[in-house]
Amino acid sequence: MIIVEPKSFEEIEQMTKGCGRLLVLGCETCSAMCFAGGQRQVAEIASSIRMSKKMSQDQTEVLDDTVARQCELEFLDHVKDKVAACNTVLSLSCGAGVQTMAKMFPDRRILPAVNTKFIGRATKRGEWMEMCMACGDCILERTAGICPVTRCAKGLLNGPCGGATGGICEVSKDQPCVWQEIYHALKRLNMLHYLKQKPQVKDWPVHPDKVVRKDLREVGAT
Ligand code: SF4
Ligand code: SF4
Repeated sequence: MIIVEPKSFEEIEQMTKGCGRLLVLGCETCSAMCFAGGQRQVAEIASSIRMSKKMSQDQTEVLDDTVARQCELEFLDHVKDKVAACNTVLSLSCGAGVQTMAKMFPDRRILPAVNTKFIGRATKRGEWMEMCMACGDCILERTAGICPVTRCAKGLLNGPCGGATGGICEVSKDQPCVWQEIYHALKRLNMLHYLKQKPQVKDWPVHPDKVVRKDLREVGAT
């Protein structure tokens, strides 16, 4: 899932100063899973903003709601009346959700209430690990389902680099050497011959930078 973290309330307060009628809008998918944008966080932020506005004699109304997914246009239909009734939306979704909102409602200011960090999974409650950089050319079939692009500190496709000590990466000293993990996983699966194949060649032209630029051109943004 997409991992997000809340911005500080001071930043949100600054961002929403003088914003007019405001809708605080949550996202029940990734943001909610990260405890940053579900119904509970929407209620907390909306209530803090109301309190802050009241203290500064600001009478503007603050509405709140949550959609299942802000990153898909069809899920935004049920809030279109509320958005129309507001000047600004404070979105508690990832960057994809904020941009989908901005595309769907071009006449409204859409503000981000969270920072989008990476694609990952929870390792324990409240802690997440990066698993994928969305490189556009997945090679997990050759690495026993472990991503060296994301998890090797040097992004090596033909590791290990030889610098690990006791199984620990020489760069990220709190992390195991991912190429050592790949070796053991391939061995367990009887697939060690993959390491003997000619060096892995990656299709860098589909790297995210270029893909993103192409996508933006397609929607006429550049
Ligand atoms: S190889 Fe690329 S697409 Fe596959 S998991 Fe790694 S970064 Fe993600
Ligand atoms: S020690 Fe392992 S994980 Fe760290 S940079 Fe070298 S190959 Fe990559």
